[in-house]
Amino acid sequence: MISRIDMRGGLPADLRDVLPRAELDVEAALEKVRPICEDVRHRGAVAVRELTARFDGVEIAATRVPAAELERALRELDPRVREALEESIRRTRKVHRDQRRSDTTTEVVPGGTVTERWVPVERVGLYVPGGRAVYPSSVVMNVVPAQEAGVASLAVTSPAQREFGGLPHPTILAACALLGVEEVHAAGGAQAVAMFAYGTEECERATMVTGPGNIWVAAAKRLLKGRIGIDAEAGPTEIAILADAGADPVHVAADLISQAEHDVIAAAVLVTDSVELAEAVERELPVQVAATKHSERVAEALGGRQSGIVLVADLEDGLKVVDAYAAEHLEIHTADAAAVAARVRNAGAIFVGTYAPVSLGDYLAGSNHVLPTGGCACHSSGLSVQTFLRGIHVVDYTREALAGAAAHVSVLADAEDLPAHGAAIRARFDWEVPS
Ligand code: NAD
Repeated sequence: MISRIDMRGGLPADLRDVLPRAELDVEAALEKVRPICEDVRHRGAVAVRELTARFDGVEIAATRVPAAELERALRELDPRVREALEESIRRTRKVHRDQRRSDTTTEVVPGGTVTERWVPVERVGLYVPGGRAVYPSSVVMNVVPAQEAGVASLAVTSPAQREFGGLPHPTILAACALLGVEEVHAAGGAQAVAMFAYGTEECERATMVTGPGNIWVAAAKRLLKGRIGIDAEAGPTEIAILADAGADPVHVAADLISQAEHDVIAAAVLVTDSVELAEAVERELPVQVAATKHSERVAEALGGRQSGIVLVADLEDGLKVVDAYAAEHLEIHTADAAAVAARVRNAGAIFVGTYAPVSLGDYLAGSNHVLPTGGCACHSSGLSVQTFLRGIHVVDYTREALAGAAAHVSVLADAEDLPAHGAAIRARFDWEVPS
């Protein structure tokens, strides 16, 4: 059901290359999404509607969801789901509110200051996936940080669903209503990203687009990056678990399955120094997979080349492996899990010990679940308030403070053969370098 890679004899030099990972060929998808994006650029809303008919199999009269539909979805929302979403929003808001930054002013020299001013992006388009599964939790994870950052204009988009008359899934609409989002569009895939990048008659152009999605969404983001700001290209979900002999194989198997449930190309990787644990997990997986609702999808994900059990000589090697892998989600099931977690350098989010499974983080930990995948956790972070802020340096120098820097500026400008730079300073001091 799941393959094994034995590294007990020592770690290979090309560790990153030999670890299991999905091959997501975004480059190949670029050529397919290019005409889609061009179509939206030139024909706007008409193109989005036609592409929706083609890819989502439903005719829609407009992408913009009427306010009455948002209200209706909230009215008809299962009260238990409403309660859970409200708690998820409360916890997520609590964490993200603490991420807000205040401006900092540094006095570099007397009379010379640099202030870093944090300014939210003006308008954000938030993509909420809706192809294979419905993710109201992604509404929360996208909207809350943008709101806490102070983004003034916010639009959510999610694929039109045939079974709901061309609207996005009602739970997504209800989550938007709970969060006070008024602008929601029924559009998915590359055409939704292009809608935000170019604007249409129904949807004003956005400064930035964020949120996870499938390969078409990722390819459109890569193609349109620059024209529109993007967050990371969140690909298929990943879980890595670092565990020792004391870990509970039932918990480990359940957590691997919980993320494999997302997608047939989702990745589930166990890294352990215990052959006994590996064997116990191998025995446990088929039992739990047989009992789970999406067993076929899970079995394909676990059996894929992106998943596996990596056996290592000891925990030190285990840490090297998880750092090289840079998982989107990393669970630590070892003795003194907090101390082990503190040594990890690369992961989108770390889940410490038995009682912090990834499922908690997906919905209710308060942390964000839009995280870097595909190894990008070694250089990128998940969605946060920071994603929606820009730090602008405000430079304020008096005449005296500038005089104190003039000679150095002139020397450096001449060294770079840019003498006009030095001249711009001297122009303020009767063309002399002040001493
Ligand atoms: P999606 O909303 O990303 O994509 C659906 C859209 O794809 C459709 O609306 C359609 O327009 C377009 N499409 C479908 N087939 C196409 C084709 N052949 N050509 C062009 N466009 C096409 O929904 P999904 O497919 O369910 O994917 C969601 C992805 O997001 C999954 O991989 C899931 O694991 C991931 N996800 C990640 C996170 C995270 O935080 N990393 C969270 C939730 C979901």
